[in-house]
Amino acid sequence: MNVKKDFPIFKTNPNLVYLDSAATSQKPMQVIEAIKKFYEFENANIHRGIYTLSEVATEKYEEARKKTSDFINASPEEIVFTRNTTESINLLFYTLHEILPKGKIKDEIVLSEMEHHSNLIPWQQFAKRNNFKLKFIPTTKNYELDYEKAGELINEKTALLSVTHVSNVLGTVNDVKFLIKLAKEKKALTIIDAAQSVPHMKINVQDLDCDFLAFSSHKMYGPLGVGILYGKKELLKKLPPFLFGGGMISSVSYQETSFAESPKKFEAGTPNIEGAIVFSESIKYLEKIGFDDIMEYEKSLLKYTLEKLKSLDNLIIYNPGKDKSISVISFNIKDIHPHDVASILNEENIAVRAGHHCCMPLMKKLGISGTCRISLSIYNTKEDIDKLITALKKVQKVFKIK
Ligand code: PMP
Repeated sequence: MNVKKDFPIFKTNPNLVYLDSAATSQKPMQVIEAIKKFYEFENANIHRGIYTLSEVATEKYEEARKKTSDFINASPEEIVFTRNTTESINLLFYTLHEILPKGKIKDEIVLSEMEHHSNLIPWQQFAKRNNFKLKFIPTTKNYELDYEKAGELINEKTALLSVTHVSNVLGTVNDVKFLIKLAKEKKALTIIDAAQSVPHMKINVQDLDCDFLAFSSHKMYGPLGVGILYGKKELLKKLPPFLFGGGMISSVSYQETSFAESPKKFEAGTPNIEGAIVFSESIKYLEKIGFDDIMEYEKSLLKYTLEKLKSLDNLIIYNPGKDKSISVISFNIKDIHPHDVASILNEENIAVRAGHHCCMPLMKKLGISGTCRISLSIYNTKEDIDKLITALKKVQKVFKIK
């Protein structure tokens, strides 16, 4: 894979080893130029002006919705543009009470122990407000989900299953298709947090058969400030709006309002027009490379990285192995705080994440306060990993650890 040249940040900062793509990815020139083009030639508000510029912006915004829906095999009316994965999940937090069964029979929400706070806190709040109980699919010693336990936890009482496709700490790829099937058998609704999977693998919502799926543009080479919520047509139709104002109505009087159809009823106010349009450019960019090549390349890099890391002494790796994970590896060097490791790596211009990664309960379960996390992407190379390994050896030297 020879795509590093597409990313200007590696020209302006040639020695940068960027290993934090799970936080946000770098942007290719194609995306940066599309942002510039929008503001130079196309900037106007959408759905409003009866003039050419506004009509073109509207057309492009709706084309972006179509491109996004094709990308995950949905239809355009099933795509809501939000600000990020977090807002996509919060949309459901604000509205799902409308369609979830009330009463004592179905009063449980099943999550996993490896959820990002974005797919945990909204459901804690939901459970408190609407009298639901939270259940957690455990994480095993091998950093995978316990599917046997999942089979017990997902039962007649389950109203909702909301799980992450890929763990942003462990890199584990969860068998969400299996979990969704279990949930469907018990007539529970299903939400997939796909923030860490969509950039790395082809997602087909028909094949997964999830009810909702959330992800962010900024983690897949697109602009910041654009999130996507996929929802099955008939379900989105039943959900009430969660934000009120311009752009989401069909008619308004002083006392009453009737709302537009979904997805418009969820997009109150001026959306991130440029962001959505340019996001479709990042999809085109990814499709041009092709997911088969992306997966093959990232897999081989993951294998290389794991082998190299394992060759170091006193390193604890929190990852289920190359066949069960993608792109993310957490680790600690024995007796060294992850922040100290990250600071020394930073001196070598190596960007890694250190901390709890918005997964405090998982850290507690692992018995640690945090980890160092590297996350790989199409622009990373074996040379990047070699530099990381040399720098980690330096860390061990500084702390006199062999
Ligand atoms: N879920 C997972 C698994 C994530 O890794 C992240 C981002 N770290 C989020 C949700 C939240 O994404 P965003 O910050 O774009 O809302």
